[in-house]
Amino acid sequence: MSETKKFVDVKESEKIDPWLDQLYHLNVGVIGQGTERHERPHKPVMLLAVADLIGAGLIRENRIAWTLELRKRFGELFDQVRREDDKETPENPFFYLRSEPFWHHVAKPGKEQVVEALSSPPLIGELKDGLMTASLDEDLFRLLTSEEGRNEFREALVARYFPAKRELLVSVSSTEDQASMPKEDKASPVRSSAFRRLILETYDYQCVACGLRIRLPNDFTVVDAAHMIPFSVGHNDHPTNGLALCKNHHWAFDQYLITPTAKGIWKVSSQIEPRRSPGEAELAKLNGERLLPPREEAYLPSPEAVRWREEMLVN
Ligand SMILES: [Zn+2]
Repeated sequence: MSETKKFVDVKESEKIDPWLDQLYHLNVGVIGQGTERHERPHKPVMLLAVADLIGAGLIRENRIAWTLELRKRFGELFDQVRREDDKETPENPFFYLRSEPFWHHVAKPGKEQVVEALSSPPLIGELKDGLMTASLDEDLFRLLTSEEGRNEFREALVARYFPAKRELLVSVSSTEDQASMPKEDKASPVRSSAFRRLILETYDYQCVACGLRIRLPNDFTVVDAAHMIPFSVGHNDHPTNGLALCKNHHWAFDQYLITPTAKGIWKVSSQIEPRRSPGEAELAKLNGERLLPPREEAYLPSPEAVRWREEMLVN
């Protein structure tokens, strides 16, 4: 292997890109009613705790054990993001992360069949006895052993799951690291593509303004994903900060000519003069129309994002 090739391999192994889509699509589950409806925070919190422990030198090999340090760090992070009905149960993500392709359980020798047969988390006592440990995909573990990789990993999880808690999570995050989540203002194409898929799935590939839905078998679609508050401003890739829009409505949205309102209806800028052109007449019809809802109530546009957009509307 040439020196150049080696160099390239090292660099590639430190990139978060191959993992972004999986991290953005963790199977987290949703609970609660009405405005309290939200995604369970357990899985992303467990992953943040693992990154912190690697950063602190408390996990040195690709073997995540059920240790006091892991539970403690989980608890500290969990306290920052929990909602009223979230229970501090680190055993749940430790177990259920197995549904993610990068998290693997390793049974204690002789206990392989016991672990294999589990359909719900083992008893805490069994975990303490070392019934199972977990390991990550080798490449992901290697990424997390570099400070830059860990920070990218944290950035992705926080932007996707806990954008509003960013500052709090940074302050709790390991002091061993610089705990500086990179404030990238330029859009990463891979991050954008993970966000895009998330939003298109949330709205079933339909424009939330006009309902247009064209999706060809090879995943070509006329619908885009738009940030409500731009990523460079809010570092927020949560689905409540995104809308699926067709090309025309995306353009008008980007020009701040249309906005959702707190009542869940569209408002069109007074700059749009329907008598001037058929295009403007078409756009003006949107005024007062309802936004199409996301497939899950927990992903309705956040009041904060709606307020930001309303204030930005060109008048
Ligand atoms: Zn549209």
